Amino acid sequence: MKELGNKAEAVRYPLLVIDTEKLNQNLETLAARIHGAACSLMIVTKGFCADPHIVALLLGSSAVDYLADSRIQNIQTYAGRGKETVLLRLPQVCEIPEVVRWADISFNSEMETIRLLNEEALKQHKIHRIVLMIDLGDLREGIFFKEEATIFDTLEAIQALSNIRLAGIGTNLTCYGAIIPKKDNLSVLSALAERIESQYHLKLAIVSGGNSSSYYLIEKGELPKGINNLRLGESFVLGGETAFQSPIKGASTDAVILEAQIVELKIKPSMPIGEIGMDAFGKRPVYEDRGLRKRAILAIGRQDIDSEGITALNPRIRVLGASSDHLLLDVTESEIPYQVGDIIPFTMNYSAFLRAFTSPYIGRRYIEPQ
Ligand SMILES: *Cc1c(COP(=O)(O)O)cnc(C)c1O
Repeated sequence: MKELGNKAEAVRYPLLVIDTEKLNQNLETLAARIHGAACSLMIVTKGFCADPHIVALLLGSSAVDYLADSRIQNIQTYAGRGKETVLLRLPQVCEIPEVVRWADISFNSEMETIRLLNEEALKQHKIHRIVLMIDLGDLREGIFFKEEATIFDTLEAIQALSNIRLAGIGTNLTCYGAIIPKKDNLSVLSALAERIESQYHLKLAIVSGGNSSSYYLIEKGELPKGINNLRLGESFVLGGETAFQSPIKGASTDAVILEAQIVELKIKPSMPIGEIGMDAFGKRPVYEDRGLRKRAILAIGRQDIDSEGITALNPRIRVLGASSDHLLLDVTESEIPYQVGDIIPFTMNYSAFLRAFTSPYIGRRYIEPQ
């Protein structure tokens, strides 16, 4: 790990430091357990905006069975390079030609869209595969699981299309409704898969049981039989499962670190002086009077990160808050004699991580294996 409070090198900050060896280790750890549970591994690239270095690592690994993203622009960057590509977000009507061109498989829940995909696939002389999404109660995408007639009518309509093939069924949990995947709700999906297979005499290549929040079921040995795929984004990059936010054994939670530079360091009161109005984001802040404190201002802000989702590696640093371009830290308790120009490293939660990779103002440095 980088030393706390390192002097700035001749690079631009803020910076994401990406340790590809640790990412590789995370991938190997996840793949061993996923494949060990008779599941295929779909790695989700949206969290890191399909960063080309990370994608190269994934393309080169036999542990990865599918590469998936919610944005077709990201999929375009790696389509046709050796992995099956999957569009996770339901296709927009305006992007049907790109979806057929770049994605081998897309997740769907609307027959109108599936018909448009069929027409486009016919034009492009392609077979497009789809995963029919089933909503098990999280109330995001998918046909509601209780509407069995709709599910089977849709399956029959799909099978009548010339250029569409059913790759499988899938579900998404812990997204909108924060519903935890369990043996009982995921069993509904595996039972449905079994019925589809026997009724239509086919084998579903994909019965996709969710995202990083379903991973813990594998560790507990409770993933229902018949679920044969998981889609992992956050657990790969941040090394934690997301149903209970626990770190995964054998994975690193610090494979990607954020670094930002101190531009001001002063001792100031902890209570602002004057009448308190609204802050830059329309909120009325509440302050605790802790006397005089040593405060550092870093050149990074809410345009780049979620300030509530970052944690300094130095446990004695407290994040006070941020405006658009400034991050405020309380460094009073730190034993390190920080100076202007010093670099402060942080870990990130998924929200901060997403925004950091999306910000064009944050650079990236890759630590490659020796
Ligand atoms: C983003 C996304 C995932 C990946 O979720 P993680 O929690 O990052 O593992 C999986 N499936 C769908 C449909 C998604 O949109």
